[in-house]
Amino acid sequence: MINIYEYVKQLNVENGTTQRMTCPMCKSYKTFSVTNNMGSLLWNCYKASCLVKGKSRVHLSAEEIRNIKVPQVVADFEMPEYIVPHKENITDWSNKWGLDMDALDLQYDVKEHRVVFPIKDNGRIVDATGRSILNRLPKWKRYGSSDLPFSFGCGSIAIVVEDCISAGVIGSDVYVGVAVLGTSLLDSHKTFLSQFSTAIIALDPDALPKSFAFAKELRSHVKDVKILKLKDDLKYRKKEDIHNLKLLTPKETQLWN
Ligand SMILES: [Zn+2]
Repeated sequence: MINIYEYVKQLNVENGTTQRMTCPMCKSYKTFSVTNNMGSLLWNCYKASCLVKGKSRVHLSAEEIRNIKVPQVVADFEMPEYIVPHKENITDWSNKWGLDMDALDLQYDVKEHRVVFPIKDNGRIVDATGRSILNRLPKWKRYGSSDLPFSFGCGSIAIVVEDCISAGVIGSDVYVGVAVLGTSLLDSHKTFLSQFSTAIIALDPDALPKSFAFAKELRSHVKDVKILKLKDDLKYRKKEDIHNLKLLTPKETQLWN
């Protein structure tokens, strides 16, 4: 019997990289992957019948620590002065979607008539994105230059969604809505999502191939990655979609009523 932890550790996978190889358990060709993400070692096998997977911490070498790129935090981001915290112009729009304006800290872009979602990093506003209330193009406007996702909620399960409205709708004590705000999954998104033990990908129904691609990429960063096949975008709260989401939610964390 092979000690999988010892096996994975002796591979000395460099920080920030992934190694693919023949699975030491089921012996399938190149189905086994090991990722070192800042000293957090994650391994799993892509073969459905093989259950090998795990997570452990390893020490980084002095050189690896020197080479760590400090994420580019946009420390100097300041809300443009035409974005104001006044709620009266965004109340109707927020109510239409059932968004909690105060919890989301929504603001208003006076110039372009947009609802502004602040993007926070550890509670600090580092960027913002605004949705046109009048459906003018572009529908969404990014005000800063961070590449962080928008997130909302304080649960232990990440729900990866398309936009801030869906993230605001689904964010709760159980789920953290994470909006990727674009077509691809960036490294900063993966790093952000690696703090969760479960990620459920819930993109638009017509984006199923994208969901599968996201899931594949995320599996080396998050232990448990699932895909929710939606009837409609989560922001429309279709009964069937919420039901299916509950089915995918680990039992011990089900609090949604
Ligand atoms: Zn295997």
